[in-house]
Amino acid sequence: MAEAMDYNKLAELLFPDVTMTVDELLKKFPERNLKEGMLVTRFAPSPTGYVHIGNLYGAMLDKQLADQSNGIFILRIEDTDNKREKEGAADIVYPCLKYFLACPDEGFISRDEEIGEYGPYIQSSRKGFYRVFAKDLVSRGLAYPCFCQSDDDDKTREEQMRLGLPTGYYGRWAKCRNLSYEQIKKNIDDGKKFTIRIKADGDGQKRIVLNDLNRGKISMPKNFVDYILLKSDGQAVYHMAHLVDDTLMHTTMVVRDESWMSTWPLHVQLFEYMNLPAPQYLHTAQIMTKDQTTGNVRKVSKRYDPWARVDFFKDNGYPELGIKEYLLNLLNSSFEPWRTANPDAPLSEFKLQTSNLGKSGAMFDMMKLENICKNIVGRMSGEQVYNNTLAWAKEYDKDYAKTLVDNKDYLIKVFSIDKNNARPRKDIKCWSEVKNFYSFMLGDNIESYDFDEKYDKKIISEVVTAYKKDFRFDDTQEEWFARMKEIAESLGFCPDMKEYKNNPDKYKGSIADFSTIIRVSLTGRRQTPDLYSIIKVLGKDRTLKRLDKFIK
Ligand code: GLU
Repeated sequence: MAEAMDYNKLAELLFPDVTMTVDELLKKFPERNLKEGMLVTRFAPSPTGYVHIGNLYGAMLDKQLADQSNGIFILRIEDTDNKREKEGAADIVYPCLKYFLACPDEGFISRDEEIGEYGPYIQSSRKGFYRVFAKDLVSRGLAYPCFCQSDDDDKTREEQMRLGLPTGYYGRWAKCRNLSYEQIKKNIDDGKKFTIRIKADGDGQKRIVLNDLNRGKISMPKNFVDYILLKSDGQAVYHMAHLVDDTLMHTTMVVRDESWMSTWPLHVQLFEYMNLPAPQYLHTAQIMTKDQTTGNVRKVSKRYDPWARVDFFKDNGYPELGIKEYLLNLLNSSFEPWRTANPDAPLSEFKLQTSNLGKSGAMFDMMKLENICKNIVGRMSGEQVYNNTLAWAKEYDKDYAKTLVDNKDYLIKVFSIDKNNARPRKDIKCWSEVKNFYSFMLGDNIESYDFDEKYDKKIISEVVTAYKKDFRFDDTQEEWFARMKEIAESLGFCPDMKEYKNNPDKYKGSIADFSTIIRVSLTGRRQTPDLYSIIKVLGKDRTLKRLDKFIK
């Protein structure tokens, strides 16, 4: 009869370099001093070279939940998958998070800097911790070394599929599960590389009930697959890193994409094997979008959707608050009514309920995002628009930054036009649009005049000449408009819109047509903010100069 395995001896054979125990490690990272209800959340992206909108969406949720409980939001970099990692990719995450969400409270900043006592916050520097846990599992017979190659796995999968069985390393396909100490030692002496697998205790029949904060109770098969925990280079895979990192960082709530649900029973099993409390879990729905060409609903893709990389929003200067508000909108249907009732309240006052998040794919709607941004810019003061545009231009349009600096007082006045209206205008959604939108206020060379074809040249000339003749710069807004009406009427335009609608043929046009002609002659455009204010900001001389130039 084969001798019973001495697991401690096996653990020493596999991890001779590991001298620390799990208990000693836990003591190094003591419980946090959390008050009742405080949450510790973490955003744990794998560095792929850019931050995806889906990542930011999850991070937004992490941050909101941490903030509204006065808790802690951590940034951790999950770079254990060398194949996916690109050079320098980890370093772009923090600036991006800082830009959009003004956080984290704790975690990775750069390869040389981090905040907090629970680091390192990048997984490639945590290999030693994973090995302590792995050794512990092996020493208690709950994990074992596996010498199979990946093509063994491929063959197994084919065979299982042919037999209509669940795929994976389990049961009679788990060839290394019952190797003897001698066989293992011989393999190691022969220089064979090994991975560490969990010894799963499910049989494919037993089920467990898990509680998701978003979806409620879910029944799933207990894990029966001997998943790999450590790769042959000794580095952890996600499952092991999740167990170790979220234990040592004392994460209380794991917010992650729903694609992790299928291996959730494995994660729960790992916490049970370690006699450690598992965190609460919240699985978020993936972000979907309507394909512009086919009209079909599909996952957001960086190939087809330029905004899938959140840099898009930064490069074009969308206000960060707009992105945050839109993501909250997408996450939680109660955000919009709250925002309507509290248009100026800070986001921290919104209380997000985990129980009413979307359960199926959230539909990304660019129009809605743009609309939110337009509202935000519309409600900003001229000075805020100036400062934001300048900050953006300094990075992305140096010439315009200079223009802004050289014309500071004037441009603040320009950007302040219409800012006192009860209903804010919705002209601008991002800072990159400011330059073109207000270009008619700089320099007096109007390149082209965008008249509607319905006005003939003679009428246009008559209107502008008459307007110029009677122009009084000091008119109040009421006086100015009364004078416009008078001139319009004298030239055969109808000063009253209702009357004009009833008898359009009696007139050359309406007062609105009349104003449009003046507007175009002064700005080149048919649509601008308030014309009276434009004239006030342009000043008497420039207004007259523009009218003169136009008449000539
Ligand atoms: N690195 C994992 C991912 O990007 C993190 C999942 C998690 O938050 O636990 O999907």
